[in-house]
Amino acid sequence: MKKHVDYIIVGDGYAGLFFAHQLILNKKTFVLYSESKKSASHFSAGIINPVVLKRFSAFWLADEQIDSLKTTMDQISVYLPKNYFVEDAIHRIFHDEKERDIWQRKIISNNLEAYLSEEFDALQIVENPFETGVVLNSGRIDVQNFFTDFLRYLKIQNYLIEEKFDFAKIEVMDNVYKDFTYKNIVFCEGIAVKSNPYFSKIPIIPNKGHFIKVQLSEAIPENVIIKKKHFLYHLEDNMYYYGGTYDPEGTGNQIDDAARQQLIDGLKEFYPYEFQILEINFGYRPTMEDRRPVLGSHFRVKNLHILNGLGARGILNGNYFSNHLYNHIEFGQELLPDVDLNRFT
Ligand SMILES: Cc1cc2nc3c(=O)[nH]c(=O)nc-3n(C[C@H](O)[C@H](O)[C@H](O)COP(=O)(O)OP(=O)(O)OC[C@H]3O[C@@H](n4cnc5c(N)ncnc54)[C@H](O)[C@@H]3O)c2cc1C
Repeated sequence: MKKHVDYIIVGDGYAGLFFAHQLILNKKTFVLYSESKKSASHFSAGIINPVVLKRFSAFWLADEQIDSLKTTMDQISVYLPKNYFVEDAIHRIFHDEKERDIWQRKIISNNLEAYLSEEFDALQIVENPFETGVVLNSGRIDVQNFFTDFLRYLKIQNYLIEEKFDFAKIEVMDNVYKDFTYKNIVFCEGIAVKSNPYFSKIPIIPNKGHFIKVQLSEAIPENVIIKKKHFLYHLEDNMYYYGGTYDPEGTGNQIDDAARQQLIDGLKEFYPYEFQILEINFGYRPTMEDRRPVLGSHFRVKNLHILNGLGARGILNGNYFSNHLYNHIEFGQELLPDVDLNRFT
């Protein structure tokens, strides 16, 4: 006798877990397949940044996405041990006076009063001769505990299946997968979607990103996220996260020397003391040329769906659009044209 579930989710990154949250919230039955491999989500910095710091403009739907994430984190804290949103603000170190002036001008010209501080700040320990601007309404997710606790919860509730999902075993005519009958399957596989026979044509561009965990000889303030080239923030004891690089040309399964050097040089630019690298690793961001996520249902097999292309904003996009996809599947709600899978057909 097969077990019936409303949903099968494939993938245990931000896309998979935020979609699982929608199902928990709405009391749907489901199982989530995880091949227990660390991926982009598990290695991410976890930064919540409403501003594109290269151009000083607001991120797409920033207000809605931040509000939605805070609501989700409150909801998650009802069934997981804590709220994983850490309200430490991003302090952007200015490269020069010109950049500081641009920041000030953009507050007015781009209506960024809610996101860019009008006052500047000087941080101790790190070099910031032109001071820092504070990104208001920024923060981060406690990535490691979020994934550890969420996956443990799924396991205890018997929602988690720790094996690789095998496309060859889907019987689409009968809605059967191995020991399950299902209503819907949602693929949240990140760059592994390239091997998914139903969605392999979606033009996902893998973008390799490295990070380091470092021990600093002089502690920096604990409740700030420092941004210069990459993000630096405190993890625990005297261990800090610094990353991640953007290596669009990066391929393969090895640590790249150029990325390692970029991280060392980047950190040395503003941290003048000794540091020791404790760990270096990488993941692949699933990015899209148009910088928009991709979600929707397969054109022929209508109960196979996808949530992917989260890019550099896996947390905001993953949370916000898992709700859109859920409402699309359950209630036929139209997807925003910018993110709709149909833009490729
Ligand atoms: C170094 C780095 C730093 C980053 N920093 C940030 C940040 O600060 N803030 C932010 O918002 N974003 C950040 N990102 C981007 C973010 O991590 C990605 O957008 C996000 O991880 C994508 O999530 P995903 O769930 O789509 O894919 P993934 O994280 O790749 O997860 C997909 C999962 O599905 C599993 N899977 C695939 N196929 C199968 C199968 N057949 N069976 C079972 N399991 C399967 C994989 O093993 C994988 O674990 C960063 C990325 C990197 C690399």
